[in-house]
Amino acid sequence: MTDVGDIFCEEPWNGLYSVGVNGDVVFCPCYAKLKIGNIREASTSEIWNAPILVDIRKSFVAGRIPPSCKDQLCPVVIKSKSNS
Ligand code: SF4
Repeated sequence: MTDVGDIFCEEPWNGLYSVGVNGDVVFCPCYAKLKIGNIREASTSEIWNAPILVDIRKSFVAGRIPPSCKDQLCPVVIKSKSNS
């Protein structure tokens, strides 16, 4: 069984990573394509609490890699695969 501490990622709590010229917001530098909201359509508070981002946080709190992270090549995902 994988230890929860080994696969935890703090990125979903660190902040909103970037806002594109079209207003699309992403939260993680590994996730350039995962839009969690659009600043023209929602407030920063609404985006920060968007269901997709809340679900990602819940996965890490439960000790699981979120489905949307599984194909990323970040250190957290690579480590989780080497531990399984
Ligand atoms: S892609 Fe990697 S760095 Fe980004 S949130 Fe998922 S586990 Fe964390």
